[in-house]
Amino acid sequence: MSTRANVCEIDHYQNGKFVIVQLRYQFRVYPTPGQQIELARAFGCARVVFNDGLRLRQQAREQGIAYVSDGELSRRVITEAKATPQRAWLGEVSAVVLQQALADLNTAYRNFFDSLSGKRKGRKVAPPRFRSRKDNRQAIRFTRNARFKVLDNGRLRLPKIGDLHVRWSRTLPSDPSSVAIIKDAAGRYCASFVVTTAEDEALPPVASEVGIDLGLTHFAVLCDGTKVAAPKFLRRAARKLKRLQQALSRKQRGSQNRRKAVIKVARAHARVADTRRDWQHKLSTAIIRDNQAVYVEDLAVAGLGRTRLARSVHDAGWAGFTSMLEYKAARYGRTFARVDRFFPSTRMCSDCGRINEKMTLDVRAWDCPCGSHHDRDVNAAKNIRAAGQADLNDRGAHVRPGPVPAARREAVTHPNAACPTRSVEGISVLQGGEDVKTTGC
Ligand SMILES: [Zn+2]
Repeated sequence: MSTRANVCEIDHYQNGKFVIVQLRYQFRVYPTPGQQIELARAFGCARVVFNDGLRLRQQAREQGIAYVSDGELSRRVITEAKATPQRAWLGEVSAVVLQQALADLNTAYRNFFDSLSGKRKGRKVAPPRFRSRKDNRQAIRFTRNARFKVLDNGRLRLPKIGDLHVRWSRTLPSDPSSVAIIKDAAGRYCASFVVTTAEDEALPPVASEVGIDLGLTHFAVLCDGTKVAAPKFLRRAARKLKRLQQALSRKQRGSQNRRKAVIKVARAHARVADTRRDWQHKLSTAIIRDNQAVYVEDLAVAGLGRTRLARSVHDAGWAGFTSMLEYKAARYGRTFARVDRFFPSTRMCSDCGRINEKMTLDVRAWDCPCGSHHDRDVNAAKNIRAAGQADLNDRGAHVRPGPVPAARREAVTHPNAACPTRSVEGISVLQGGEDVKTTGC
């Protein structure tokens, strides 16, 4: 939760020449102590309804009764429950908040079923779990039905909560269709608006197309030789976070000092995430602006996640970065594609196509028998670009193989051991390969 507005994409689809984009805009809000009590009540009621619904479906399943439909679930855990003395207090919060809690449960179930049946691709989705008051993140959602309103004085009016003070850092492009109020582990509140825009925002076409290798020695290497390292301030913040986590682990369970340390860690964590996101936004915007097509390696992060590289993979935050590239490409009329990791992008020569001997992670540059000299990562990025272009050409005929986990032997060397000196901070350009042209690659 940054003090600046965070904008991220939820969904997009093409409608003629327009791209319909659903965006999420996030702002800090500052509820009064009284409003905090009302919000806590709403978080609690939403959690109870969610858990009641989950319990009901679990019991039905254990008893061999058919899956409880969305409509019946709503009737039993909201409408009928309100009439009982045990749940009468559900009437004290907006009914929309309760319905939206059940909507979350229904979505969680649908994702789980789709994952089981193979309709949903990617990592397996676990069945819904009970929510706890101890969860790091508490959230409620209001839709238009709830008649939430942004007032002329800039306050956000929420039914049965009041008028919240919002720190607006930019204006919403159109009327929001929903707003979620979120409380994070550091005790901060924010309002997350969903806004749908339909605009022709296509950028003027450019000639260059880029392949990106998401590596471990660098955050990203482009096929034109640009090497992007995570900025120093981000690495410093990550180191501080690690120190705080170590301090936390030494505190006695249940002690006051431990509680304080938990909040400190949560704050540092939020700061690292905010900083990383801001930086990734700048980088992804620059890449989309400068290139007509962007190809990245499909990381099969789920596969990497099981190896010893997991830590650095998750710190690097590639998944968030590639999804930024994807939605910005859709929004600005660029091409984006993920390239499956089914060819040895590292040891295949991007000039002659020969597949060379396997090499360990400390080999940063190599020579092909054809006479080409390659920077390891730049060569990989060139191969990714070529594969992406070929993929797009025979889209449809080509059957995409499933994700392949990273090779074990690449996963045993610590990446820092092989860090070359030619790294750059931020997004400035550095020519890495010897045979690099100044435009495109
Ligand atoms: Zn070669």
